[in-house]
Amino acid sequence: MTRALIVVDVQNDFCEGGALGVDGGAAVASGVDSLLDRNHGYDVVVATRDHHIDPGNHFSDHPDFIDSWPPHCVVGTPGQDLHPRLAGQSFDAVFDKGSYKAAYSGFEGTIGGDEDGTGLAEWLHDHGVDRVDVCGIATDFCVRATAVDSAAQGFATTVLGDLTAAVHPDAVAAVVDEFGDLGIDWVGGLPS
Ligand SMILES: [Zn+2]
Repeated sequence: MTRALIVVDVQNDFCEGGALGVDGGAAVASGVDSLLDRNHGYDVVVATRDHHIDPGNHFSDHPDFIDSWPPHCVVGTPGQDLHPRLAGQSFDAVFDKGSYKAAYSGFEGTIGGDEDGTGLAEWLHDHGVDRVDVCGIATDFCVRATAVDSAAQGFATTVLGDLTAAVHPDAVAAVVDEFGDLGIDWVGGLPS
């Protein structure tokens, strides 16, 4: 059994004070940092990043916070960086997604962010991974999409709910129901 942890989009713009800050984002960064400081048992730990250059109508001056968003995670800005709580952690690989279009799933990412870079599924398979845990931001968007793709790729998938933060906390119960239908485990509580 080879286990991977995928840390999804724990970036400054998705934490409090960022362009698209989610309540609880900084707490996720701290929680992930603490987890990685322990003897966590993961064989590999990877991160994903939203990585926008010109993602078209993913950005809007009048965002609906469902399909369109304020500009965020623009390459070359501090908002695109991982949260400073993770600065002391080293990841086995980082997958960048969304250069020229919306990309919610980490499985749309590649090392370096170019289309011809190594993708997340390929990398995990190359490393013999069969179990994947997912955490990060946001529960109802990029964590959800990453977990769904992980299961579709054949990885036994668990979402660490207490290490996620949602854009719309009220939506998380439905996301967890969907996970159940797809055979994705959810550990932890629901937003109160
Ligand atoms: Zn984005």
